[in-house]
Amino acid sequence: MRRLLFSSLAAAGLLAAAEGAARVEPPKPPPVTVFFSFESAVSGQTLLHLRGELDRLFAPVPLNFDWLRLEEAPETGVVGEAVVVRFRGNCAVTSLPPVPDERGPFAWASVTDGVVQPFAEVNCDRVRAAVHYALWGTERNQLARHLGIALGRVVAHEVYHMYFRTRHHGAGGVTRHSLSPQDLVAEKAELHPEDRAGRRPGGK
Ligand SMILES: [Zn+2]
Repeated sequence: MRRLLFSSLAAAGLLAAAEGAARVEPPKPPPVTVFFSFESAVSGQTLLHLRGELDRLFAPVPLNFDWLRLEEAPETGVVGEAVVVRFRGNCAVTSLPPVPDERGPFAWASVTDGVVQPFAEVNCDRVRAAVHYALWGTERNQLARHLGIALGRVVAHEVYHMYFRTRHHGAGGVTRHSLSPQDLVAEKAELHPEDRAGRRPGGK
């Protein structure tokens, strides 16, 4: 009888421990799959920094990402949300400096009947032009890194539109309406800083 009681208590203890463990680690949402394609060659370092910056910006949501080349998209689809990002133009850092007056949006997401679709395009020539414009002197020695971080911020802006299916813009961070060349190369950037202060998106 005593042994039985002990076993029951031990089992109850294990159960409580299991419940405690479950409470400590709630199930994470599955990663968002980013299907991507590049029109030009892109350095491995640029890609690494691009992915790192996107993960870093979305860490507070929390959200993380799996990257798959568009041509490797499985016919069966993927678990969880997926977005498609096509990089147009020249994303290589070895090419000649871009034309300085390249203007227009860095990227855009498709919108149909007012609804944001999970398809975005990034204009690499414009992002490269902005990075060249904003960097000075020795900073240009790390062009692959800066270009990757800049592309990560531009992609984060579009992923925000696509994942949350919103055309809304934040009052600050990389979700605000337009980013300057300086925003793309700045040492620090956040997705949407006003969320941390408990304010509604837009600051109202
Ligand atoms: Zn936008």
